[in-house]
Amino acid sequence: MKIAVLGGGVIGVTTAFFLGKQGHEVTLIEAEAEVAQKTSFANGAQLSYGYTEPLASPAIIPKLPQLISGRDAAFRIKPALDSRLLSWGTQFLKNCTARRESQNTQAVLNLALRSRDALQQLLKEHPIAFDHRQAAKLHVYTQDKAFQAAIKKAQLKTDWGYLQEILTPEQCLAKEPGLNRYSNHIAGGIYSPQDEVGDPYRFSVALREICQTEFHATFLLNTRIEQLVRHGNRIKQVETTRGVIEADAYVLALGPQSAQLVKTAGITLPIYPIKGYSITVPATDQAPQVSITDTDHKMVYCTLGDKLRIAGIADMVGDNETTDPRRIEQLIRTAQQRFPQAGDYSRILHQWSGLRPATPNSIPLIGRSTLENLFLNTGHGMLGWTLACGSGAVIAALVEDIEPQCEGTFGRRSEPKRETLIIGRFYKGNENNKS
Ligand SMILES: Cc1cc2nc3c(=O)[nH]c(=O)nc-3n(C[C@H](O)[C@H](O)[C@H](O)COP(=O)(O)OP(=O)(O)OC[C@H]3O[C@@H](n4cnc5c(N)ncnc54)[C@H](O)[C@@H]3O)c2cc1C
Repeated sequence: MKIAVLGGGVIGVTTAFFLGKQGHEVTLIEAEAEVAQKTSFANGAQLSYGYTEPLASPAIIPKLPQLISGRDAAFRIKPALDSRLLSWGTQFLKNCTARRESQNTQAVLNLALRSRDALQQLLKEHPIAFDHRQAAKLHVYTQDKAFQAAIKKAQLKTDWGYLQEILTPEQCLAKEPGLNRYSNHIAGGIYSPQDEVGDPYRFSVALREICQTEFHATFLLNTRIEQLVRHGNRIKQVETTRGVIEADAYVLALGPQSAQLVKTAGITLPIYPIKGYSITVPATDQAPQVSITDTDHKMVYCTLGDKLRIAGIADMVGDNETTDPRRIEQLIRTAQQRFPQAGDYSRILHQWSGLRPATPNSIPLIGRSTLENLFLNTGHGMLGWTLACGSGAVIAALVEDIEPQCEGTFGRRSEPKRETLIIGRFYKGNENNKS
């Protein structure tokens, strides 16, 4: 089939790879001059297979007044008379029950595990250099209450097939000696030994080259999609700044821009942008070798080759893409307090912000849309890098229609909201079949 992949972030590029591998004729359309220039560029670099908790949870409800009034340094919601935010927020609140939180965590965990397997297989066939290593991940807690709640979740994930260890403060220090300067008292940590790190930008560029050389995929860079042209229940073509592109099928992978563009075909998607920030500094020999999540400030620290990447912050401020210098200063200040010796903070190599394409239940939209030949691979929120390979592999399988669990389901007209549930059930079913 001739398949057009719309968008060249890490999700679009992995989609192109898995489709190309199956012998499809792939054309990827991307507005920027290179792939992975937007949200996939300088994110936290965590392949965080074990950290799949959704944003929507019972615990967030009492914090909402604090988030809306701007009193939480890590997470802010700017209230707006925005129908998109209202509708997203309503669905978000519906997902804030303990039962939904548990279901959503498990659904994303299953996709994350599939992603880990898909990446391992890909790297066996195509060894790519992207500062990839199994660094493990340590969530550090300073509050006993939060630590006790995290222990319960870690035990559940271990039951669901992903090992997480519960560590005392001494064990945290033994795993990562760089924590010795951690200013506050450590209550304990949750350690995920199988978590990995890697640079999503370097990975995406290398994968683009593989797609071009091995599968003869076409990458139309510097090409902005202006409209999806619908004919009946199908997409007929896409109009771009460099002319019209026609294909048998289309995969929407436009990250935070997905909802806006797909509206031109009459489809509404529950995606809202959540802005985050990162800084990259030269790493010193005291940089943490284990990936650290500071759960108080919701910041991650990750050593990528000779650099230290520090990322965090969740700002719901609409589509505004500007990088607020106060948020960058906040990252630097906190990093200097927590890990004063880990990086050379006088030399900021790069400061960056990106919009996470978030769904209300934190489950990405992967599957066939209400239109016959339009597939969705979008809405990966906080975990797009982690979930990229699994999501690309799933879309390629759906396009082939070879997943027996999905028979009869993806051929039907279904609402995007329903697809989010389908993907959860699909993975659960898949796991049950294995055991
Ligand atoms: C601060 C921060 C830290 C993060 N840390 C992590 C992490 O540690 N681990 C993790 O797993 N995830 C992390 N994420 C989330 C992850 O980065 C995203 O989920 C992921 O990058 C989304 O990828 P995407 O391909 O869907 O979107 P994008 O990377 O934004 O790709 C969409 C592409 O579509 C293109 N596009 C848009 N509109 C058009 C148009 N009209 N025509 C043509 N092209 C268009 C864009 O140029 C872009 O290249 C983080 C995000 C942020 C902001």
